[in-house]
Amino acid sequence: MKKNVKELFDLTGKTAIVTGGSRGIGKEMAEALAEAGANVMICARRQEWLDATVSEFESRGFNTASRLCDVTEPENVQAVVDEAAATFGSVDILVNNAGISWGSMPQEMPLEQWQKVIGVNLTGCFLFAQAAGREMLKKNSGSIINIASVAGLTSSANGPFYAGYVASKAGLIGLTRELAASWGRRGIRVNAIAPGFFHSRLADSVIDIYERSIQESNMIPRIGIEGELKGITVFLASDASSYITGQTIAVDGGMTA
Ligand code: NDP
Repeated sequence: MKKNVKELFDLTGKTAIVTGGSRGIGKEMAEALAEAGANVMICARRQEWLDATVSEFESRGFNTASRLCDVTEPENVQAVVDEAAATFGSVDILVNNAGISWGSMPQEMPLEQWQKVIGVNLTGCFLFAQAAGREMLKKNSGSIINIASVAGLTSSANGPFYAGYVASKAGLIGLTRELAASWGRRGIRVNAIAPGFFHSRLADSVIDIYERSIQESNMIPRIGIEGELKGITVFLASDASSYITGQTIAVDGGMTA
């Protein structure tokens, strides 16, 4: 039966996993999915931020679960997917959001930092897609949203200089296409969001340096504000985007247009 527009965006009864959902933009996206009706499982490495976010979500009446997890550890990843499926009955949506960065000129980049960034931002997303994908394949249905970055689409001679981060995000955009191609005929859609700059623990030091140039040259001349990633997240997670897969959508005030 044809759905009306509110039904298209409705996530009631669906279960979403949001990696790095304890703070920053992952928390905002988890909140958006819960507001649209989804059960949410959030995971991260540090208990204190997880607990604070779970309490806040529960006080708002959201169905929430959480688990400590390092996305680079396959057993941790599998445990999150298993617990989400056991608690809520299925895994329908995965938001691969956990991410880190390391700023350094390429000639000085420590190999250890390069590997850490690639490990979390790229391999971690693959491991989660693999584990959640197996769950989604059981019912031939699911939506995976990878959080890339404008850093995966463009670079600037004015910096920020963060080769590992850029490589991880460009890689994630490629992985998004490849997973979409691999699973499109099995009912799983895979898309990416490429945010511009949003205030967070990760981004604030870079924003301090670049806010002025964003004000001077962005089509929408400001940093992204809280709430501006909610719509795209619910859109890509829901049936409202049922014919969209393999795409990367920039939410950047026109920075990459
Ligand atoms: P934050 O640092 O505020 O949040 C990062 C989240 O990821 C935290 O919940 C953190 O929790 C978790 N995390 C980090 N490493 C791991 C790990 N190994 N395993 C599990 N969880 C982990 O950053 P943002 O909210 O800014 O960033 C979120 C995502 O958005 C990243 O992928 C980032 O690249 C991307 N992004 C952000 C932009 C921005 O302007 N803010 C712009 C473009 C992209 P804990 O430390 O407890 O593990």
